[in-house]
Amino acid sequence: MRIFSELFEAIFPRYCMLCGKRLSAKEETICTLCYTELPFTYLCGVKGNYVERLFWDLPVLRASSFLEYRAGGRVAKILHELKYHDRPQVGRFFGRIMAAELIETDFFGEVDLILPVPLAPRRLRKRGYNQSLFLAKGISDITKIPIDSMASVRIVDNPTQTSLNRDERQQNVKDIFRVANVDALRNKYVLIVDDVLTTGATLRELIGTLAQVEGLKASVLTLAYAGGRLGVLNSRES
Ligand SMILES: [Zn+2]
Repeated sequence: MRIFSELFEAIFPRYCMLCGKRLSAKEETICTLCYTELPFTYLCGVKGNYVERLFWDLPVLRASSFLEYRAGGRVAKILHELKYHDRPQVGRFFGRIMAAELIETDFFGEVDLILPVPLAPRRLRKRGYNQSLFLAKGISDITKIPIDSMASVRIVDNPTQTSLNRDERQQNVKDIFRVANVDALRNKYVLIVDDVLTTGATLRELIGTLAQVEGLKASVLTLAYAGGRLGVLNSRES
């Protein structure tokens, strides 16, 4: 089989999305060196971490983010490729990596369903895919937990949040979600998945909407955390 994969690589070379170096047959999406230099949060879903504390007043059991985002850094490049360069498989790759780390812990617990944060229909049409769904697919590949991408919907395509402060962001996302299938969510423990968490406004709004469903519990997992350091001392992002 090795000769076939080497032949395949010779005909269809693949390149690291961060440094542009050619990938070996064993590497996927990014090269080993770039991977080791990523700014991991090292949260590993540990209970009471600073991401989880953003949701303390909501029915959220656990929360974690995998990478630390900084403007212009490597994680910004990964998110940009994932969202704007038609590369949904980047999401699936990172979904699998996040899940492979967390499956060694008790983070997934008794989670029943994975819920990718929905995109508004107009944005979904424009992008062609929901990047959070592809992260969810990667997580499901490892955990075998089913995905429900239809149970909640985004009814408002709210404008970009980049220039807004915390209060403005929460106002900007008010009432943008709706539960589409109450029966599918009643008494369920859901893992909500998104690409990036900044103040948590969008996720808080979604969880607040879902919390109207009887017996619902949630955990949160995002690929990146962009909310500043909050005492994180172990970043190696440059
Ligand atoms: Zn590289």
